[in-house]
Amino acid sequence: MNDKSVITGKTRIYGILGCPVTHSLSPVMQNAALHEAAVDAIYVPFCVEPDQLSAALSGLRALGVCGFNVTIPHKTVIMPLLDKLAPSAVQAGAVNTVVNQGGQLIGHNTDGDGLVRSLVKDLNCDVGGSKVVLVGAGGAARGALVALCRAGVKSVVVLNRTVAVAEGLIGSFRSSFPQIMLHGTALDGQSGQLVSDADLLINATSLGMAGEKIDGLTLALLPDHAKVYDMVYNPPLTPLLLDARNRGLQAANGLGMLVAQGELAFSLWHGIAPANDIMQKALSAFFNAAKA
Ligand code: NAP
Repeated sequence: MNDKSVITGKTRIYGILGCPVTHSLSPVMQNAALHEAAVDAIYVPFCVEPDQLSAALSGLRALGVCGFNVTIPHKTVIMPLLDKLAPSAVQAGAVNTVVNQGGQLIGHNTDGDGLVRSLVKDLNCDVGGSKVVLVGAGGAARGALVALCRAGVKSVVVLNRTVAVAEGLIGSFRSSFPQIMLHGTALDGQSGQLVSDADLLINATSLGMAGEKIDGLTLALLPDHAKVYDMVYNPPLTPLLLDARNRGLQAANGLGMLVAQGELAFSLWHGIAPANDIMQKALSAFFNAAKA
């Protein structure tokens, strides 16, 4: 909103499309950053059922909504409905940010770059030349894999419950990144050996959200210098992070990735970076208020 937090006839509208969307933390982060930057805009949640996505896009176009985030379950299905896709969205095979550029809806993806940014900030981990184990092969893993490859990792082993999905994911990137060793295999009792020379292990599965351990994954063989990143951020301390910390490994949850993808989206929409740490502070204040 503008500096007086008043909605006027000039206030621009941004939002997030998802179903459900009530749990989204993006309105908290984005509105705090808009307020801090005195940008005359507001960011609101739009709950859009899957069969209403096309109609919702027509409505957003007609209303001149300036941009929006996209979350589950629309990240992939929205792609053919947009006017143009940025390379980040094409490579990730998903869209999480749309910019309305003079009536043209342009899809971007800031998730993967958000992860890389969070690895640097939260784990002091520059992935260039690293050996990475990526657990999971869904949408988040795809975005992560592209960003890690673009950031110059040495190798990535993708471990997934459904091995064909891991192999498919790896197969779709081999020709784009021939210099990087890519391997997809099953997440099972044999995974331990594959992690024994990893510099970084990333969880990109949904395991941990309900307090589940990752069956078939043991951190015992990770080298002492290895770092562990869990894309799950709710709960903040997953069994994986607890295991990593008990082993004395540096570890972080996915809150920093959530913040960083939001910061990158903000920059795409408003042409300026949000104030340093404003999104992170807004989330901390929100969580503290929820606890009280
Ligand atoms: P997705 O496309 O549905 O992929 C889910 C992944 O989890 C697949 O690899 C799936 O394996 C695996 N999986 C699910 N249940 C499993 C189980 N019981 N045992 C073993 N593997 C299991 O979901 P996504 O969009 O990639 O999201 C994955 C996670 O990343 C979610 O927790 C999401 O909240 C998080 N995320 C965080 C951020 C952030 O900003 N921090 C951003 C995006 C996503 P199969 O192929 O075998 O089904």
